[in-house]
Amino acid sequence: EKTELLKLVHQKTVTTDQQHVELAANIGSPQDLAGVLANGAEGVGLFRTEFLYMGRENFPTEEEQYLAYQQVLAQMEGKPVVIRTLDIGGDKQLSYLDMPEELNPFLGFRAIRLCLDNQELFRTQLRALLRASVSGNLKIMFPMIATLEEFREAKSILEEEKRGLLEKGIAVSEQIEVGIMIEIPAAAMMADQFANEVDFFSIGTNDLIQYTMAADRMNERVAYLYQPYHPAVLRLIHLVIKAAHEKGKWVGMCGEMAGDPIAIPILLGMGLDEFSMSAVSILPARGQLGRMSKEEAAKHTTTILSMSSSQQVEEFVRRTFHQLD
Ligand code: PEP
Ligand code: MG
Repeated sequence: EKTELLKLVHQKTVTTDQQHVELAANIGSPQDLAGVLANGAEGVGLFRTEFLYMGRENFPTEEEQYLAYQQVLAQMEGKPVVIRTLDIGGDKQLSYLDMPEELNPFLGFRAIRLCLDNQELFRTQLRALLRASVSGNLKIMFPMIATLEEFREAKSILEEEKRGLLEKGIAVSEQIEVGIMIEIPAAAMMADQFANEVDFFSIGTNDLIQYTMAADRMNERVAYLYQPYHPAVLRLIHLVIKAAHEKGKWVGMCGEMAGDPIAIPILLGMGLDEFSMSAVSILPARGQLGRMSKEEAAKHTTTILSMSSSQQVEEFVRRTFHQLD
């Protein structure tokens, strides 16, 4: 079984009806690239940049960040690399950034909210990204977007920094796509409007599930409510994919759900374009997708979305799609 999977390392991910989907990897640092390449990822679907900021005494400089981003882009040799801007706050704290304690950190001052309020921090990261962009196929992604205004403000700051660099004669790629994570139900509900303005979506189910079900992803006592296959979650995902496709935009997923053998047939059927997961899940997912027809999977979408519980969905998927792993 393992040697069978290894044969898939240098292959694209193609279904039995010749549909290509992209299998990408989630990384936390340039050191993860060895595993990404060894497992045949077709790109990086999520580079969590928090690691650059954690376990140290001060903010990383523009130069330090530039080197890290440049290294990842160069090693991926033109394959797509989605780099997410800083997603700090919530459960992730920095010892050198004084943040008042909050009653509900996951609903608090984090990610893009913090970056828009602390623009020097944000602009430094954006300049590092823009300068690195000429080394590969960079896509920039903003986390925890709730409103169109947040996206517009983040994008205009990015454009300002780009103009600044160009004025200084520093090269910046003209091909950079700019997208958002869909992690907040409000953004999912407004996906049709976001789709007019973004280049892509990446659905962050780790957070989208917790916010949809109002169940803290870290709290054991409410873990039973943290249900990836709940129709409420699936309907939001479906809404986002449809809205994006109507505007000709692509949709990825970079939460844990993207590598889950039960979720994969559902997501394939809904038309998800890119699945980003931990490197070790890529080859099993490629094997699974290679045994499935996208057209057949799509025939079950309406049925699945009309179900009333997570358990019902899971049983249906197990029954309907054989060879789940
Ligand atoms: C997510 O929320 O699904 C996600 C990928 O981001 P993180 O796990 O870093 O919050
Ligand atoms: Mg998240």
